[in-house]
Amino acid sequence: MKLFLSTDFEGTSGIVAWEQIMEGQAEYAQGRKLLTDEVNAVITGAQDAGASEFVVNDAHSVMRNLHPQDLAGRAMLITGRHKPLYMMQGLDDSFDGACFVSYHGSIGAEHAVLSHTYNPGAIWEVRINGEVVGESGLNALVAAHYGVPIIFVSGDEATANEAQLVAPEAEKVIVKQSLGRFAAAHIHPSVACNMLRAGAVRAVQNIGAMLPPAFTLPVTIEVTFLVADMAEMACWIRDVERVSARTVQLVGENLLDLYRTFVTVVMLTRGLVDR
Ligand SMILES: [Zn+2]
Repeated sequence: MKLFLSTDFEGTSGIVAWEQIMEGQAEYAQGRKLLTDEVNAVITGAQDAGASEFVVNDAHSVMRNLHPQDLAGRAMLITGRHKPLYMMQGLDDSFDGACFVSYHGSIGAEHAVLSHTYNPGAIWEVRINGEVVGESGLNALVAAHYGVPIIFVSGDEATANEAQLVAPEAEKVIVKQSLGRFAAAHIHPSVACNMLRAGAVRAVQNIGAMLPPAFTLPVTIEVTFLVADMAEMACWIRDVERVSARTVQLVGENLLDLYRTFVTVVMLTRGLVDR
């Protein structure tokens, strides 16, 4: 059994501040250790239940947060940027399941540590077929395209709730209680890792009952930006249409194309973020 892990950073127990998850910052080394332990707990649990092959895509910021030699399960690590499939780089139809580890709530979520949807400096809200989604919902487009079920999601409660939309059967492990955007009550890391490991065991045991994400076609992605200029710029990309001053939409039947266009929108509008 072959599993894909897309690993973010904000959803790890102990993390509440950008300083803990940004390269070059004083607390980064400690954050990195906490994340690595959580990723390994998921891999180890999946191994306990019979999974044998792992590909880990480091999907946070500049995507060099995990060190290859520190990963359990002889996992292959995809690291660095800029990857064509961004947070989902490496996934294809050869995988049995996908795990979203250390994910976080969307930018509009209530009580969600470090909440954002791809770019907190540009994106105010994203909807897919009218429903507000976070990164789990967007990344599910790629899983749906390849027919791979999302079997495991970890982070805070907002993360678990949002994942319900695209992965109702997935095992959800909540490792902290977010009190706001920069505060949380953390389950002790060693306890959190035990929970993650046990959750991964259950996820693999139940994989036969899990279905790939399903989207009603055609899919409409609406992206609302912080400022109108970003919406204007997004329309430089083919197939992106303006629907109001700050909102654009993409409509299509090919979920991979839609995701790639969304990623292009993210990359391009980065140029207009206030500094
Ligand atoms: Zn993220």
